[in-house]
Amino acid sequence: MAVFKPEKESLYAETLDSLTAKLTEQGLPSFRAGQIMDWLYRKGAKDFDSMSNLPLSVRKWLADSFCIMPAQMVLAKAAGDVTEKLLLELEDGSYIETVILRAPEGDEAEDGARQTLCVSSQVGCAYGCKFCASGLDGWKRNLLASEIIAQVMTAAAHIAEQRGGEQARTLSGIDNIVFMGMGEPLANFDNVVRAVEILHAQWGLGLGARRITISTSGIAPQILKLAEVPVQFRLAVSLHGATNEVRGAIMPVNKAYPLEVLVPAIKKFAQTRGRMVTLEYILIEDVNDALSHAAALADITRELHAHVNLIPYNPVPNLPWKRPNYRRQKAFAEVLSRAKVSFTIRRQKGDDIDAACGQLRLRMEKERTA
Ligand code: SAH
Ligand code: SF4
Repeated sequence: MAVFKPEKESLYAETLDSLTAKLTEQGLPSFRAGQIMDWLYRKGAKDFDSMSNLPLSVRKWLADSFCIMPAQMVLAKAAGDVTEKLLLELEDGSYIETVILRAPEGDEAEDGARQTLCVSSQVGCAYGCKFCASGLDGWKRNLLASEIIAQVMTAAAHIAEQRGGEQARTLSGIDNIVFMGMGEPLANFDNVVRAVEILHAQWGLGLGARRITISTSGIAPQILKLAEVPVQFRLAVSLHGATNEVRGAIMPVNKAYPLEVLVPAIKKFAQTRGRMVTLEYILIEDVNDALSHAAALADITRELHAHVNLIPYNPVPNLPWKRPNYRRQKAFAEVLSRAKVSFTIRRQKGDDIDAACGQLRLRMEKERTA
């Protein structure tokens, strides 16, 4: 496995405990760890010199041992007023995408539009789902926890700048964070869990656990392992097929973990956590959108007491898959309705590039090698 070792580790990878241990090892007072976290996550410090309540000896050690921001934003591309994609370049020249999704009109929070941040967990993806742009070029490497946090810090600063003011708090404007960008989060388990801890911790970004969602293509053993993680984040599973025949045809992961293995793992997760899991189901014309498919989906959803998120497919250039027309989508949803299954269907307007994460990066990589 390609493991990336940066020249200097970023402070964004540290937890309060790990930083305390490193300070102690240096013979520096452990209470400095809390102050450093405060600088990073309350005050949004971008350099060590600004950490004015730290003595020079601590600042020097920090500067010698760490960097802060391990990523650089190279492009921000808006699609309508709902979606904005940020392209970030990492230290080794890899590109990743982070997407800001603004709530559609009429669904606004008191302090302005509700915003969800969609973060990447890997460079590329090894899982090769047939409909997805992220896997087209294969897998390059796992992201470090710091590179996941860097996406959040970059997006928060970008939003604050757009709003033309100082950030009241580091995360202002970000209400939810979903691991639905490029990559399979559960194939980068330790770094993703560490990033979730930093996002949630009071000494970190202080984001409510239920505002964090991890999405997986269905790696059953890792779902069981995830049930043991203390932070009570939400889980979404990309089902996209409710029979092995359909799912196996579009998601190679279904060979290793077919539905008879995956469904019990999701059930165990839901029972252990006492929380509803979301099943994501992209509607792809003539692949998984027949009424019989809807009936099979309703059966699984009822068995799991889950919620279904129906997502009309976002076409990817050079892939043959299509989004079913509105009438077909409605007929599919009708079947779920009649079966009294809890579901939502994503609105069509303005979601041109929502879930098609991976495309922008692919284009940049192509341009670079051209
Ligand atoms: N690897 C994880 C998380 C990243 S993908 C997973 O598969 O769950 C996030 C979601 O976007 C998944 O449900 C994925 O199936 C979906 N997705 C991928 N390509 C898409 C496309 N072109 N249109 C709509 N959804 C897509
Ligand atoms: Fe990877 Fe998820 Fe895309 Fe499948 S849908 S290729 S698991 S990113």
